[in-house]
Amino acid sequence: MLINLTKFVDSSKSVLKFSDEINRIDDPILEDYGIIFPVKVSGEIYKVDGEFQLYLNGDFTYTSQCDRCLIETKKDMSFKSTGKLKKDSGNANDSEESDEVIYYNDDELDLREYIWNQIVSSLPMKNLCSDECKGLCPKCGADLNKEKCQCDTSNVDLRFEKLRELSLND
Ligand SMILES: [Zn+2]
Ligand SMILES: [Zn+2]
Repeated sequence: MLINLTKFVDSSKSVLKFSDEINRIDDPILEDYGIIFPVKVSGEIYKVDGEFQLYLNGDFTYTSQCDRCLIETKKDMSFKSTGKLKKDSGNANDSEESDEVIYYNDDELDLREYIWNQIVSSLPMKNLCSDECKGLCPKCGADLNKEKCQCDTSNVDLRFEKLRELSLND
């Protein structure tokens, strides 16, 4: 996604609004994450004391497999972020800058990498169909959200109980 800043830089306007739908980002990582395109983004760029401040909102849907019961789930995600825009001056010794700085070239702002980062960092580490998911039976594989199986899993608990006694006696 490219935004041309030339007109905005020279105008008396103090805010530039934009919205776009990103139909694809060629990246196998995002395919692995099950991102469903388009990703919707909108935002504003404000002129503040001769600098540019970006506010970005994004919405997308992704599919993932529940870590416990392995069912496919579709989830809606959104992200919000802010950052400062700086013209890329070519010298890389702006080391005091935080990573919230987004550089642009020749008055053109390329947000693709930035949006990619926002998408990836908004994805949860854990994928659960619901926080109460009971998962699968470790013995027969039954989906315990849907059925109760007859497996005796008490020996699993017994083992833990023995371990606990051992560590208590130490
Ligand atoms: Zn689940
Ligand atoms: Zn079972």
